[in-house]
Amino acid sequence: MSQIRLGTNAVNTWCPGCGNFAILNAFKSALAELNAEGLPLENVVLVSGIGCHAKIVDYLSLNSFYSIHGRVTPAAEGIKLANPNIKVIGFAGDGDAYGEGIEHLIFAAKRNIDITMIIHNNRVYGLTTGQYTPTSPLGFKGRSTPFGTRELPVNPLELMLASGATFLARGTSHGSELLKKIFKAAILHKGFSLVDVLQVCFTYFNMYEYYDKHVYDLAEHDPQDYNQALNKIREWDYNSDSRIALGVFYKKEIPTFEERFLSKNKKAIDRDVKINEFLETSI
Ligand code: SF4
Ligand code: MG
Repeated sequence: MSQIRLGTNAVNTWCPGCGNFAILNAFKSALAELNAEGLPLENVVLVSGIGCHAKIVDYLSLNSFYSIHGRVTPAAEGIKLANPNIKVIGFAGDGDAYGEGIEHLIFAAKRNIDITMIIHNNRVYGLTTGQYTPTSPLGFKGRSTPFGTRELPVNPLELMLASGATFLARGTSHGSELLKKIFKAAILHKGFSLVDVLQVCFTYFNMYEYYDKHVYDLAEHDPQDYNQALNKIREWDYNSDSRIALGVFYKKEIPTFEERFLSKNKKAIDRDVKINEFLETSI
């Protein structure tokens, strides 16, 4: 593997024990391997939102863009459409992606635009000190729900599967090797890919022991089988005490949004190129 330097001199301000460190390390390893296999790093653009997760782009020496809360997906989509040749990877928290930004995720999945979304799903708002999010379990006690939330959590992978996502996976911030493999597969996938990472928030929702006891590797599984994927995704609803599968649940190759978009708009693009050529020669 090439000895590329992906880190920066930015001071890391995540809490000691935070699962974001494992996500950062797994991502660095995945990118280093992809780079050694031929992916130019200058062709990678990262987008992050608002929250503890967002600082990840400060710790990576790659092209990056901070978007606003809930808007990682549309920013990533815009970058991809402007330059379809680059790899666009969005990082978002569970509040960011599954709360404020959920409608964007649904439409990105439906379009099958070729971007990768990595969700730091710690099931709590960490940066704002412990409010419940769409994936917090029933009864979660936090700043905004001192007597326990009365809502059931959403199963984001089930929602994404129903929305048309063509690559869906889950990892944890406790298994870097598996997470690295999942990140690589998601980035290489042609189409909309989403990785839900069960990231432990050491300060406001420490689930290390719980996940350790419940997770297992999806070894015998056909990711091309929609019904099998749905069954495995439904095995754990983010609330029950059942086993939690990790790995790639679903993978399907169909034309991407930008392929459809560009072929449909080829005439308009050819016209724009001609206009630009005319303008350049006229100046
Ligand atoms: Fe990590 Fe939670 Fe601390 Fe944020 S508040 S840095 S998610 S441990
Ligand atoms: Mg969160």
